[in-house]
Amino acid sequence: MSNSFDSRSLNPNQHGHKARKRFGQNFLHDHYVIDKIVRSINPKPEDCLVEIGPGMGAITEPLLEASGRLNVVELDRDLIPILRTKFFNYPDFNIYEGDALKFDFRQLLDNNEQQLRIVGNLPYNISTPLIFHFLSHHAMVKDMHFMLQKEVVDRLAAGPGTSDYGRLGIMAQYYCKVEPLFIVGPGSFNPPPKVDSAIVRLVPYDELPYPAKDTKVLQRVVREAFSMRRKTIRNTLKKLLSADEIEALGLDTSLRPERLTLQDYVSIADAVYDKQQHEANDQ
Ligand code: SAM
Repeated sequence: MSNSFDSRSLNPNQHGHKARKRFGQNFLHDHYVIDKIVRSINPKPEDCLVEIGPGMGAITEPLLEASGRLNVVELDRDLIPILRTKFFNYPDFNIYEGDALKFDFRQLLDNNEQQLRIVGNLPYNISTPLIFHFLSHHAMVKDMHFMLQKEVVDRLAAGPGTSDYGRLGIMAQYYCKVEPLFIVGPGSFNPPPKVDSAIVRLVPYDELPYPAKDTKVLQRVVREAFSMRRKTIRNTLKKLLSADEIEALGLDTSLRPERLTLQDYVSIADAVYDKQQHEANDQ
């Protein structure tokens, strides 16, 4: 029996499986796109690879062929026997049935020095919470390659002064180098989604370019700042710093939150942190 199956013939109904909307199932069938994704990932036998939502195995198969070792986390229990059958002769193929949002990814690492390479054609409803999860556990991640709605990739990569710039992009860029790779049209999926998708590579920094004294404070500052994106930072940040305190950082308080750089947000967060420390010491 051959190790491989032909993903050119991938068809969600070929195993009697009907794509489920509630699991965000849009199965990739475009061999050109699948090859391009796998070439971008460039899997190696020594990698500790995990795929989230393998579905019918469109990316799983070439990943396994290249690395021989792969962990997958799949929520739809009807897909598990299909995956088991397809890849039964790969001894280092491990299937975890369950919700990736509740999965303890640390269990996939044999030792502390190892890091995960995470890939997935992610369903829309879990993509942002999963990305935030991996950002807060960035030390265990070597890199991430995700297929997302293009609009989410635009937000991840957005710089100041654009309407896509906000909390997701700032926090992703705080922890990672964000590289949008290419766009994938609806026709590459079965069933086709309503919008364009895109592949993004996120590579956590070994050393953060702009480390904040406390990342929780940074998260709070960014959340407050963008809670009303049309208001000025004098307004949105008033619970945390006075206008004078913001001006003392060399920032114009009449700016809208989308005009500030990541570095500006880190300096605001550090000022908030110092203020909180002073207040705690005074009590
Ligand atoms: N990787 C396959 C492909 O590219 O054809 C399938 C991609 S499909 C967009 C998303 C996959 O994620 C589906 O197989 C779906 O069942 C699975 N999924 C949905 N929610 C999940 C969750 N919370 N945890 C793990 N897998 C999930």
